Amino acid sequence: MKLNDPIQSLPLVGAKLAAAFSSVGVLTVSDLLYFFPTRYMDYRKTVKIGQAQENDVITVMGRIKSIKSSFGFRGRLGYAEAVLEDGTGTIKAIWFNQTYIAKQLKVGDDLILSGKVSRYKQLQFNNPAYEQITRDAVGDVATGLHTGRLVPIYRRSDLIPLRTMRRLIKVCLATTTELEDFIPVDFRSLGKGEKLLPITEAVKQLHFPETDELLNQARFRVAVDDVLPQQLAVQMQKQASQAKPGYKITTNVEQVKTFLNTLPFTLTASQKRAAWDIFQDLEAGQPMNRLLQGDVGSGKTIVAILAALQTAGAGFQTVLLAPTEILAKQHYDTFSQILGSKEGLALLTRTFAETGSKNGAKPKAKGDSKAGIMKAIESGRIKICIGTHALLQEKIKFKNLALVIIDEQHRFGVSQRGFLLSKSFIGGGATPHLLSMSATPIPRTLAMSLYADLEVSTLSQVPNGRKPVATKVVAESQREQAYDIVRKEITAGRQAFVVTPRVEESELGTSSGTSEVRSVKKEFARLQKEVFPDLKLGLLYGKMKGADKDKVMAEFAAGKLDILVSTSVIEIGIDIPNATTMIIEGAERFGLAQLHQLRGRIGRNNYDCHCFLFTTEASQQDTKRLTALTQTTDGFTLAELDLKERGFGDLFGKQQSGFLFSYPQFISVKALTTARHIAQEVIKTDIGLENQPVQLKTLAFQYLHEVAQD
Ligand code: ADP
Ligand code: MG
Repeated sequence: MKLNDPIQSLPLVGAKLAAAFSSVGVLTVSDLLYFFPTRYMDYRKTVKIGQAQENDVITVMGRIKSIKSSFGFRGRLGYAEAVLEDGTGTIKAIWFNQTYIAKQLKVGDDLILSGKVSRYKQLQFNNPAYEQITRDAVGDVATGLHTGRLVPIYRRSDLIPLRTMRRLIKVCLATTTELEDFIPVDFRSLGKGEKLLPITEAVKQLHFPETDELLNQARFRVAVDDVLPQQLAVQMQKQASQAKPGYKITTNVEQVKTFLNTLPFTLTASQKRAAWDIFQDLEAGQPMNRLLQGDVGSGKTIVAILAALQTAGAGFQTVLLAPTEILAKQHYDTFSQILGSKEGLALLTRTFAETGSKNGAKPKAKGDSKAGIMKAIESGRIKICIGTHALLQEKIKFKNLALVIIDEQHRFGVSQRGFLLSKSFIGGGATPHLLSMSATPIPRTLAMSLYADLEVSTLSQVPNGRKPVATKVVAESQREQAYDIVRKEITAGRQAFVVTPRVEESELGTSSGTSEVRSVKKEFARLQKEVFPDLKLGLLYGKMKGADKDKVMAEFAAGKLDILVSTSVIEIGIDIPNATTMIIEGAERFGLAQLHQLRGRIGRNNYDCHCFLFTTEASQQDTKRLTALTQTTDGFTLAELDLKERGFGDLFGKQQSGFLFSYPQFISVKALTTARHIAQEVIKTDIGLENQPVQLKTLAFQYLHEVAQD
């Protein structure tokens, strides 16, 4: 069997099963080997039948004493029933709806059963895992696939029967040659005698773990492989940027003082400290790489403005990149308001191109001045250019780009960050300083292991001690009461958000459009028709045209809409101080950090604010998780909880993070630091990754060069 052989070349795989595999992205033998279990049943405890006790999860071995089946009639389920004996006792096994089992097995067969023991007159297993005993050359029982061990459970067992799945994996493991190992033997030492498992062994252990310890080692090994390309990209980027000098921007203390005097507020202590850190970096002559993180509303924008102002004052240019058009526009308006038009501001998104006019920003006709803006950037008249990814696709020639600011940086991948510092973007000059901003609190150690040589500034206070938003997990039966509060607030002149989750296609029927869009449209229609027919509702989702989004946002900001029904696009950065209530539907589908960000859209005022969390099918654990949100307002605590409860999935999921990780659930800080160390070693002798496996090289360069679409 070769790794690239199509899945159909395996025994048991016909057209139907092949289609099922293809629906989960498994096309080849190699794909199948990397299709890891989501969990395991622990059937390792083996006992004599006489020792079996009710509620034990155990494995027993014995000989079939009797076996029969009963076909279902008059609505009753058919079943197969066997009695097993081993000299210490007998136990019954019943398989409902699987009468065929009685045909596969016969009296006198040696059988293994695994499952939970229950009592119905006598002890019995309901639907136990079963397997006929096979013995190896010396007569020992050969290791099972379905019983007596950590037994793998895979996704989509409705389409791909688990027993078939396990047999296929076993065939592949037994007949394929070694998997390609990204990590050379020399680099596999972890110190203290510990070693990374070879990848082939790791994959084997992930499917059929021999011990908990080996399973952990296997997960760790796969996680290291998973993050290695990203770490290589980061190291390559670091090498490239270190080779060049940075811009030296001397702090103009007078300018800072004068500017601060024009603000309607004074900076918080942590804002001052962050700004000071940045000024020091700008002066140092080395390219800065700093993450400014602070909870929603902690005032990161003003710190960014200070950095841009210093840069402009020294005659250099700044680019501010935002993840969405809405946010870019909002930044542009804030900058124009605070700086006036004197520093030469421009906005560049896919649908907007404008420069500051004297009376703040009045949107001009769509795209009217794009060419003009390009020229103004090239001549250096535009000092601060704000935009979305669209910026990255424009052929902009900067006169002297010295500062790149990335807002909500977790929304961008290493690829885009890399591109912003690459020659094709900045031209031939020195490397710009990089300031990344994020409201998703990434624990410091994690941030530093993700990005090489990253400095971190944290805004730990929220100005003016905003009132915490009263957050409540609401039972369906109290939906009306929640709507009453929303209505009361709106009657008092306030506004509200309703946020809908991304849902599975299958939950929505078959009409076209993405599931996210349909779910938000449906809720919008329902609320408008059945709940708030007399109020003005607006609809917002990511895939809307930029101009349409801006129109809705502008209307909401101006108070012309009472309720904004949206997908989680509003998570990022929108500032509507008049909004006091928020309803989040399907809250269990969001990570805590994300919910916290959503909730941060309200409470930006002196009113009492309410956030209502509705759930669709929350498990008890979900409810417990959501309760944490009602008890703490600290984003870091919530991010740590997310990490603990849901792994790195929320932080590193492809959807949001820009990372291309395939197994975020396996990633740990230790995996990151290990991969980082290996990446450093590889780069030392092979900066262009010429001698690395093609797949590894391709992935690493994907991180460096790929620019994702909006
Ligand atoms: P975020 O960190 O979420 O990006 P913003 O920069 O949007 O937060 O700031 C949130 C709000 O707080 C803005 O309206 C801003 O003008 C205001 N703000 C920022 N710093 C202060 C401060 N030191 N005192 C009072 N208000 C502030
Ligand atoms: Mg912000």
